[in-house]
Amino acid sequence: MNLSIAKKKLISWVIPCFNEQEVISETLKRVVEVSSRAINYDWEIIVIDDGSIDCTREIIKESIEINSNIKLIGLSRNFGHQYAVQAGLNLAKGCAVIIIDADLQDPPELAERMLAYWEKGYDVVYGQRVERYSESIFKKLTAKIFYRLLNSLSEINIPQDTGDFRLVDRKVVEALKQMPERGRFIRGLISWSGFKQFHIKYKRDGRYAGRTKYSLEKMIVFALEGITSFSRRPLKLATSMGVISAFLSFLGITCVLLIRLFTNSWVEGWATLALAILFTSGVQLICLGILGEYIGGIYLEAKARPIYFIDETKGFDMENK
Ligand code: UDP
Ligand code: MG
Repeated sequence: MNLSIAKKKLISWVIPCFNEQEVISETLKRVVEVSSRAINYDWEIIVIDDGSIDCTREIIKESIEINSNIKLIGLSRNFGHQYAVQAGLNLAKGCAVIIIDADLQDPPELAERMLAYWEKGYDVVYGQRVERYSESIFKKLTAKIFYRLLNSLSEINIPQDTGDFRLVDRKVVEALKQMPERGRFIRGLISWSGFKQFHIKYKRDGRYAGRTKYSLEKMIVFALEGITSFSRRPLKLATSMGVISAFLSFLGITCVLLIRLFTNSWVEGWATLALAILFTSGVQLICLGILGEYIGGIYLEAKARPIYFIDETKGFDMENK
């Protein structure tokens, strides 16, 4: 009789947080509950503190004392959501990793269904939002525009209405680790990497507590990152705008010359001149801006700095059985 017990597969949660003291205990409670129900797996819960200035880190440390499956990665400052997620992915040991926000907008309970599809052979199982509760009209509208714009501009297919809430297989984690870029737009990188993907539709709740950590500025930076990392179409757009404005000015010049040569009047006035200058300089500035976004991207990549620094970790030395 073979008495050897099959080793359980390890599944990692990756939970980025930035100033989430109001919600992190409840999140950990729900995640631990879900994990303890799925007894066929071993679990590690990696919480990344992305430079919080409230009590988030202390709360995580207290949770580790109670539950040794929880692990902390404390970053040296606020690097941003995507970098926090990458820090978690880099240290995760699981055969599959579930990335989830700390604010309970995405239900951890969905992990059970994600795991079921993963077991069927899918490498990425992502949550697709069909409804979003308690989010401002502005947030919903900007998110909608962003996803539609990104898809129409980018040369790869990024699923609409998805966030980073997803399960990814170890293969995908390794693929992400091989992509060294500083400008990180993880859901785009995952989509770009290929692999077998599946989506589960779900209704996105409002935040359990606290306020959004994505300021308008962070949202704009994130959106520009997404677009410039995955599309060169804006550069082509700059060329098209140049061609169109050159064509318009050619028409204008022709009209002015014809009027002058074949009639007794001529186009006069500073208003025409001012409009022409405003129009061309507007087009030029937009084109410069587009170029600047890409050059800024090159500048960041050329410096090749590490994408984050870890200040401290806790719970990692205790081997997960
Ligand atoms: N977050 C982070 N670093 C940041 C901003 C956000 O780690 O600089 C985390 C945040 O704690 C949350 C997740 O990223 O777990 C998503 O942020 P948030 O819920 O504020 O964004 P929203 O859902 O409003 O888009
Ligand atoms: Mg949120």
